Amino acid sequence: MSKKIYITTSLPYVNADPHLGHALEFVQTDCVVRYQRLIGNEVFFISGADENSLKNVLAAEKAGVSVQDWVNKQSDTIYRFKDAYNISFDDFIKTTQLRHVEGAQKMWLSAKEDIYKGYYEGLYCVGCEDFYREADLVDGCCPEHKTKPEIVKEENYFFRLSKYQKQLEEIYQDNQIGIYPSSRKSDIYNFLKEGLRDFSISRSQTRAHNWGIPVPEDKSQAIYVWFDALCNYVTVLGYAKNSPLFRAWWEDESTEIWHFIGKDISKFHCIYWPAMLMAAKLRLPSKIIIHGFITSEGEKMSKSLGNGLNPFELAKEYGPDVLRYYMLREFSLAQDGDFNRITLLERYNKELANGLGNLLSRVTTLMEKNGGRVKPEFNLLSSAIEETWQKYNEAFSEFKINLAVDSFLQLITKADAFVNEKQIWKIEDKEQLEQFLSSLWLILANLSLLIEPFMPETSKKIKESLGIKNEKKEDWSKTTFAVKKISALFPRKQ
Ligand SMILES: [Zn+2]
Repeated sequence: MSKKIYITTSLPYVNADPHLGHALEFVQTDCVVRYQRLIGNEVFFISGADENSLKNVLAAEKAGVSVQDWVNKQSDTIYRFKDAYNISFDDFIKTTQLRHVEGAQKMWLSAKEDIYKGYYEGLYCVGCEDFYREADLVDGCCPEHKTKPEIVKEENYFFRLSKYQKQLEEIYQDNQIGIYPSSRKSDIYNFLKEGLRDFSISRSQTRAHNWGIPVPEDKSQAIYVWFDALCNYVTVLGYAKNSPLFRAWWEDESTEIWHFIGKDISKFHCIYWPAMLMAAKLRLPSKIIIHGFITSEGEKMSKSLGNGLNPFELAKEYGPDVLRYYMLREFSLAQDGDFNRITLLERYNKELANGLGNLLSRVTTLMEKNGGRVKPEFNLLSSAIEETWQKYNEAFSEFKINLAVDSFLQLITKADAFVNEKQIWKIEDKEQLEQFLSSLWLILANLSLLIEPFMPETSKKIKESLGIKNEKKEDWSKTTFAVKKISALFPRKQ
């Protein structure tokens, strides 16, 4: 039975230029999306850009342009990931779009029972767009930005998060929302242990510089950034108008809902968002997948350190497939990963040039020499193929993407060993040669599928070389394929 899965990335802020960390989230999510499609599941994959934050107003003022011009330009930059990294999203939402504005307002009205007016005085960090408690500050400064928060006192609206304490505890105890990796669950239990406090979900239009979504029925206030931004996961589907897309991908209980996020925003996604959904009487997500951060040559990437690698220049330099492969292979989703050009080059030469590329060129050369036609009815390596798929599927079921790579690298090693052991280039017996080439064709054909979530362009090239058009895997053994030699897929690099 095939499944329906709705998959989202988080929405990058557009106040600054994107860095390689954004590429990592896009690539990890896209890999999982492509895997799910590969095994026959139906996926709706969305991403977008968060345009309503006060940070954008400040950034635009600094750059001397209008806020709308600023966010348009910055959102276009985020959208460039689609081509630069071959990200296969189906829709891209910008939070200034009408469908989002109307949806966020509908969410507010639906959650109205849990919204009340109160006075808020707190220490507010503009960089975080969040209030801090004295105890959370480091030397009186925001731990993230190292700047002194401002004291803000104003009348605004609150969301009754405290009401959902018990329900959220139960949700995570019973795994109603699955958290991956499970090691991240302790963060959630810590938030819950501290006791949930109601949080402010609006600010005065003055402090918001009149940028943001007006609170319904009170135009003097704008919806606070998190309440606004989180709504994108439903507004992109047409929640405002209860559109068929929303009913199919959110309301339909047979659809799974998966959010991919960075570890810094787990409180908002694992605590705030489910509570908001319960308040609005909407169903909860099924899984929240939390990834680590990327560092550059051992240092945390940041503007001030000047080591924020430009993700678009890197994609141009290495090409999307190589960069995707490196990030998915080198970094475990559960942990932080370090971007290092030396390891990239080592992996490229060892695993792609000498491994996959070399096997392909060797085997397809032999096939071309033998007339260029293969009917893969023999499969001497079927157990190796089966074992690979088993490990590969297991790895993906736990979001251990890097282990999925291990499984197909092992298959490449086994195929190489088979070619060498049998000394296939020396075989003269026609029947035996056909059996060997047929078995090897199946290895390469399976590899073209196994690598698709990682290197979609390379996968296409391998299929072309093997003569695969639209034939289903089950029909391969009944078909004759016209094979063309493929060489220099991954030329060695110095
Ligand atoms: Zn801050």
